[in-house]
Amino acid sequence: MKLRPVSQTGATLLLVVSLIAGLVFFGPDPATASDTSTRRDSFSESTHCGSSSTPTPFASKQGYLYDSEVILGPFGTYLGRTIAEVESQLVWWTVPYSDGRRVRIHQAMLPSLEKVTATLEAEAAQGRIYWIGSAGGFAQRTIGGSYRFSRHALGLSIDLNPGQNPFSGDNVLITDMPLWYVNAWRNAGFCWGGDWEHIKDPMHFSWMGPGAEGAVGPSLNPRPPKTTITPLAGPIANPPNPIRPGDGPVRLGTGRRDRRRRSRRGRAPISPRWLRH
Ligand SMILES: [Zn+2]
Repeated sequence: MKLRPVSQTGATLLLVVSLIAGLVFFGPDPATASDTSTRRDSFSESTHCGSSSTPTPFASKQGYLYDSEVILGPFGTYLGRTIAEVESQLVWWTVPYSDGRRVRIHQAMLPSLEKVTATLEAEAAQGRIYWIGSAGGFAQRTIGGSYRFSRHALGLSIDLNPGQNPFSGDNVLITDMPLWYVNAWRNAGFCWGGDWEHIKDPMHFSWMGPGAEGAVGPSLNPRPPKTTITPLAGPIANPPNPIRPGDGPVRLGTGRRDRRRRSRRGRAPISPRWLRH
C-alpha cells in the first residue's frame, strides 16, 4: 500500500514524458503549418494520376461561359475569381516541336511547362522527337453535357494531336504518343487523359496544381476573397426542399441521359471529342 502513491506518480511522470515526446516527434511540421499548406491543393483530374482528384466547380450555365462567370473554391483562389480574371493571366506558350504552334495557358503553370520543354529538348538531343500538328489551350466553356468548368476554361489544359489521340468513352486507349513523351508531361506535374480511370482522352494534359512538381511560383499566391466574412446574426433555418412529393420525375442532367443511352446501345454515346474534357 505504501508503494501505490509512488507508482501513481511514476505513471503520471511517464504520461507527461510521453506527451512531450509526442509533441516533439509528431507535432505540426513548421514548413506545412502556415501558408504552404494551402499550396498543396490538387487540381488533378484523376486519382490515377497520383494525386487526389478534385472536380472543377459548377458554372451557372452549360456550354460557352461569359467573362463574368464566377469561379468558386480553390480553382478560383489560385487562378482567378472570374473567367475575366483568368484571361488577364493567360500567356502564350509555344508547343515544342510543333512548327511554332502556340496555345494560351494560365501563367501559374508556366514553370511546369518550361520543365516539359527542357525534357523534350533533352530527348531531341538523343534523337527522339514527337511532332505536334495540332494544339489547343484556353477555351471558356463547361465540360460537354455538364455544368462543371472545363479545365480548358481555367487555362489548365492542353490538347495535342487529337486526330491520333481520340477521346474514348469506352475506356479504350488509342494513342501514337511514345511513353517517353507522356513521361515528360507526367514528371512535370501533368495528368494525362490516357491515364484516366473510366474514360480515355490521350490528347489531353491537365496541370495538377499547386502541389505539382515545379509548380510553386509567385503567380500562385492565393487571391483575397471577393466578399467579406460577416458573423452570423442567428440560427439559419433549412431552406425548403424545392422537390415535393408528387412533383413527378426530376431530370438531374445529361449524365443520366448518357447512362440511359449507353445502356440502350451497349456503348458510350459519341460526342464531339473536344467537348468532353
Ligand atoms: Zn482537353
